[in-house]
Amino acid sequence: MDTTARPFIFLLSAIQLALFLSAFSLLRADPSLPRPDATLFKKPYIRLEKVAGQLDMKYQLSKDNQEGVLYSRWTRVRFKKDSRLLLLNNYKIYLGYAVALHSGQLYLSTQDYHKTVKPLLTPQVFTGNRKLRTIVIDPGHGGKNPGCINKSLGMLEKDFTLDLAFRLKTLLERRGYRVFLTRESDRTVENQNRAFFANKVKADLFVCLHFNSVQSRSVKGIETYTFTPRNQPSTARSRLIDEDKKLFPPNAHDAWSTLVGFYVQRQLIKTMGWVDRGLKRARFSMMIDLQCPGILVEGGFFSNYEEARRIKTISQRIQLAEAIANGILTYHETLNRITNPN
Ligand SMILES: [Zn+2]
Repeated sequence: MDTTARPFIFLLSAIQLALFLSAFSLLRADPSLPRPDATLFKKPYIRLEKVAGQLDMKYQLSKDNQEGVLYSRWTRVRFKKDSRLLLLNNYKIYLGYAVALHSGQLYLSTQDYHKTVKPLLTPQVFTGNRKLRTIVIDPGHGGKNPGCINKSLGMLEKDFTLDLAFRLKTLLERRGYRVFLTRESDRTVENQNRAFFANKVKADLFVCLHFNSVQSRSVKGIETYTFTPRNQPSTARSRLIDEDKKLFPPNAHDAWSTLVGFYVQRQLIKTMGWVDRGLKRARFSMMIDLQCPGILVEGGFFSNYEEARRIKTISQRIQLAEAIANGILTYHETLNRITNPN
């Protein structure tokens, strides 16, 4: 995308989405479950055109059948043939399965319709945990486990996740939330115990904070993860494995994790202006026993010099914390709107 146009597009899509969300109560109450139209790659799929109808949106298929767009006044959702990447008002979200072309029509897996598209576009159809009072922040790594390291800048991930966690805690407490950290000092915490702690204090939301690192020094940007839904592969691979067929406690909250993950990732990209690496899925060990919605933020790359230097700057970490807090507040506003539509 042309970088000079980005701030304007961000602002525009923010206003559009805010207006769109405020119009929730006007939408049809509950899109019924559509029957699959085809079995492709041994999976049930539905026609994108039918998805659009279910969501009261318009649909346009490109002339070359490569791209399908669902759109309404404030929302534009783009799907591409053979791609797991969906763009919601230009923000990146990864599907479990690639969109398929079949008999001249584009098809979406029913799994992705229920686990990604519906939570984002019609969250009011989901029931379950709708309050937000207690938030557990999980600063990644600690003690014996430093996480990723940038030697030339003298940075250890465990120090920066803790710093960011304290900043986020302060912002959320100011908004009246009850906030706990899984560690408040440089100590080793077993990943399993992080979720146990969140369960013990009856958290309504679990927020893991991490920074990224890869071999290639040019890779940069922000990504947010939620726990992979059952019967779909995590974003890092495309083949279904046995683990994918298991149901884990956090799967009871898939829709809410998806919604809060999207709001936080979108706010991070809007606020920081860094590369959008999208909303992704993984079965992280610290979430495997989690009994509430959860997200994991990878707030930039230690392995990219320019981004690591930004992360080292206090003003940038303040902004990162503010963006995460604001994403959570947007989520809470949506929960309130769903619970009290008038
Ligand atoms: Zn980490």
